[in-house]
Amino acid sequence: MNIYNAIKEGSKILKKKDIKFSDLDCEILLANVLKKQRKYLILNLDKPLNKKNYEIYKDLINQRSNGKPVAYLTKKKDFWNSEFIIEEGILIPRPDTEVLIEATLKLFKNKDYANILDIGVGSGCILLSILKEKPCFYGKGVDISSKSISLSKLNAKKLSLENRVKFIKTDVDNFCLGKYDLIISNPPYINSNKIKYLEKDVREFEPKLALDGGLDGTFKTLKIIKKASTLLKSNGKLVLEIGYDQKTKIICLLKKRGFYINNIIKDYAKNDRCIISTKIN
Ligand code: GLN
Repeated sequence: MNIYNAIKEGSKILKKKDIKFSDLDCEILLANVLKKQRKYLILNLDKPLNKKNYEIYKDLINQRSNGKPVAYLTKKKDFWNSEFIIEEGILIPRPDTEVLIEATLKLFKNKDYANILDIGVGSGCILLSILKEKPCFYGKGVDISSKSISLSKLNAKKLSLENRVKFIKTDVDNFCLGKYDLIISNPPYINSNKIKYLEKDVREFEPKLALDGGLDGTFKTLKIIKKASTLLKSNGKLVLEIGYDQKTKIICLLKKRGFYINNIIKDYAKNDRCIISTKIN
């Protein structure tokens, strides 16, 4: 069995189960088994695979064919400019969430200091990506999941950011430490009744805690807005990820609590995905 045939064979199995990017998934999984970059595979298609690696690869293909996301199999995911360690029980970073990073960096382009709070920090991907870009920014990340806190700490260490960040396991309702120039969050915002319609990979493998936003999808977002109105400095910014159909509702919640709406940003699929607002009093 050589690399070319292993990819073809794996891809056929995944295609049968309607897995969309079957070739890409196989390449990522095989590269991971061989501890090489994907481009190594393309340049070495006729290299034979030893039996042990072939067996490991086949096991990963089997797990992928049952819907387990690639990032949970490789235990890593690229996001913005870094590679993050990922594990089951933690939301996998989405490319669409990168619009929050881009928007934040634009917003703070001329600032060389900011104190940031990330609510529902997950893997740490949002907060750590910003800190990596802005060497004089400091941050705290809070999450109700202890797995998230230990994983975020690991990722901070991997990116050499542990001196500028702290992670605290707490419900945001009980958190009242510090004043912030920026609060950022990708809260759970899927309507509880719609979780069953998400793709199988998400529905069956990703944590409900990071997805379920209550009966109208905005329950957790509202908690964050309320907390942000007390923890932000005057003129501080709130950058929120939202569901594609939540713009009007969230704008209304923000205005009620004294926020000025700066900007709505669309994701790569042209859905409304991010709201930037300012605490004005
Ligand atoms: N965008 C995610 C999804 O598509 C949802 C993430 C969230 O609820 N914050 O599943």
